[in-house]
Amino acid sequence: MGVWRRRVVVVFKDPPTGSVSSVTAEVTSSMFSRSVNISRSSFRLNCSLSQLNRLSSTALQRKHHFLRATFKTSHHSPCHSFYTPSFVLSSRCFSQSPPSMDLKTVLEVLEQLAPLSLAESWDNVGLLVEPSKQRPVKTILLTNDLTADVMDEAEAMTCDLIVSYHPPLFRPFKRLVQKDWKQQLAIRAIESGIAVFSPHTSWDSVKDGLNDWLIEGVGRGQVSVLKQAHCSGYQKHRLEFTARNEEELNNILKDIKTENNETFQYNILRTEQEAQHVILTCSSSELTPAVQAILNSATASQSLNITQVQQPPLLGCGQGRHAVLDEPMSTASALQRVKKHLGLPYLRLALGNQKTLDSVVKSVAVCAGSGASVLQGVKADLYITGEMSHHEVLDAVSKGTSVILSDHSNSERGFLPVFKERLAARLPDSVSVIISQKDRDPLQVM
Ligand SMILES: [Zn+2]
Repeated sequence: MGVWRRRVVVVFKDPPTGSVSSVTAEVTSSMFSRSVNISRSSFRLNCSLSQLNRLSSTALQRKHHFLRATFKTSHHSPCHSFYTPSFVLSSRCFSQSPPSMDLKTVLEVLEQLAPLSLAESWDNVGLLVEPSKQRPVKTILLTNDLTADVMDEAEAMTCDLIVSYHPPLFRPFKRLVQKDWKQQLAIRAIESGIAVFSPHTSWDSVKDGLNDWLIEGVGRGQVSVLKQAHCSGYQKHRLEFTARNEEELNNILKDIKTENNETFQYNILRTEQEAQHVILTCSSSELTPAVQAILNSATASQSLNITQVQQPPLLGCGQGRHAVLDEPMSTASALQRVKKHLGLPYLRLALGNQKTLDSVVKSVAVCAGSGASVLQGVKADLYITGEMSHHEVLDAVSKGTSVILSDHSNSERGFLPVFKERLAARLPDSVSVIISQKDRDPLQVM
């Protein structure tokens, strides 16, 4: 025979000053043997329903109202264990109903913080799983990677939205079956009614985003973008030509219009005697018909000049960062700073040719994750990224550039607390933003 017990996630509406652990110790010490802090305002414990009611009363007496308590029932037997569907416990701890927020509004906030248009064209960002039944978003789980462990965690806390930095769905698939672990996760998200959103390279690119956070770890400096982002929009072309007179210009414009749905624009720069000097701006799809129409006129074809219109750069946005440090430091100091910034006991360092730990680092280039393609050819004393291949490291070292590698996701994960603060500040108190405790880089230095 098995034993019934409940795993409860309690979210405080108004956590008092100090950490939740002090409060949980206060209200739980006499009743529960095990409680785990999830964040500053929430914790998890195992208890029975009557114990949970006692916890509610104690918390109310201490004026620490719960925003909500959600729990799962688990049945443990010698042979197997399973979870019944989770449900929200309606309890007298709901002191008032907080304003709810729907998924669409939360997605708008996420996009305000990092527009999806900043993502690389090969990427798969945005809303990846959308539940059919709308429910207010009360709990958002932030994770670097969506793994089975993180999905367990999301389900246990009755999460409504998972923000997974890396897109858990990337390659297209033709079926949803249990054979593939990513498809399993998609199915679990759908069955649990959990939405999944991925920002990926939009976070890398945005000003004050992941790469700016990464380079800050070394020190202050003059920061520039390695691969500049540009305003999104259709590619445009500018055609400059001269028509013999107004009648010829009208004929050319008429030809272009009949060929195409007119979205082009034109300006008459100046008129000399009867000649019309014109600038016409059009999209890529309109370029060929426009050129065709102009070539039909002898005068216009002789004067035709075509240029491609560049979209303006989005200052401060793009992939990778370079910094000229305000205060140059030794390679050893830079290494220590990066360890502290990433919260890691170990990093891998390849010293550049003729370099030692005492060599001065004046300039740094970073790219979160797998940065070799962005860092390639960049002049800097030090590269910092998550991973590079053996030969890519050798290339950098041969040019006198030292390389620090942290393992892929260790160069990214530390941005989650920064993003959490920004997101929570833009959402009502009714929404809890929680960082996954299960998310970690799969590689460990043993
Ligand atoms: Zn990555």
